[in-house]
Amino acid sequence: MTAPVTKAAPPTYRGRFAPSPTGPLHMGSLYTALASFLDARHHLGSWQLRIDDIDPPRAVIGSVERILSGLKAHGLLWDGEVVYQSQSADAFERAIRELGQSGRLFRCRCTRADLKKTGSCGQVCVTQQHTDDAPHSLRVSVDRSLLTAFEDSFLGPQTITVEALPEDFIVKRRDGLFAYQLAAAVDDAQPNFTHIVRGKDLLDSTHRQRWLHAILGLSSPQYAHVALLHGTDGNKLSKQNGAPEVDLSQTADNLRQCLMLLQQAPPPASARNPQAILEHATANWAPPLHLSQHP
Ligand SMILES: [Zn+2]
Repeated sequence: MTAPVTKAAPPTYRGRFAPSPTGPLHMGSLYTALASFLDARHHLGSWQLRIDDIDPPRAVIGSVERILSGLKAHGLLWDGEVVYQSQSADAFERAIRELGQSGRLFRCRCTRADLKKTGSCGQVCVTQQHTDDAPHSLRVSVDRSLLTAFEDSFLGPQTITVEALPEDFIVKRRDGLFAYQLAAAVDDAQPNFTHIVRGKDLLDSTHRQRWLHAILGLSSPQYAHVALLHGTDGNKLSKQNGAPEVDLSQTADNLRQCLMLLQQAPPPASARNPQAILEHATANWAPPLHLSQHP
């Protein structure tokens, strides 16, 4: 007789790391990947890798392979297949249709120079109800009565400002590509993911994405934002600012440095390889709450 097969319950924590294919892994992205990995693994959750490839003009050839090899070299192994955001185009199109049905979508013909300081439509496109095919982006009008504050797992209560959620924002670009806000809102919502750990530069976007969830009838995941790493020039460490690729010959040192920046307990000296360091860091992970004091 064979024992009955019992299906393991799906993890109640589903997290992800979602880099854009715009360059190799640098210290800033390794640090964010590590924070989301440790938070997921500490909570016995799953951790997926999603390549946010919805902006082909910005993509850099070969960067997906280098991101994957960089993560693997540091022992940051994801669950299942790598997911590509471009595969969700149908879901994004459906969301655009739903926004249209909600009466909040409008064609905006403004050029960059026309926009308000907040990035909102600078003219009266919303009242003009353009229907012709002149170049336009699609924007949603924000209904501020639907706004809700939220509790960030690392930063605490978050209130909404006009900068975070202006009167309207783009969901489909003038060049026909889906806007980041729409794609991230649809792909990060439950049940895809329950927990999103990412950089603090996306905090304002979180308000827009949570608002889109409310309009689209989606459940928002729990958000946690980590402080950004800055280079010696004071700028955020990012691919746009030319941050160099992480040195794959010193993976243990890279992880130790990121753990220190995340204010985690240092792994013992006996932990010499990424696996041993990650094992210690996962068991001892403590949300970096104090980072909220350092904007
Ligand atoms: Zn406009």
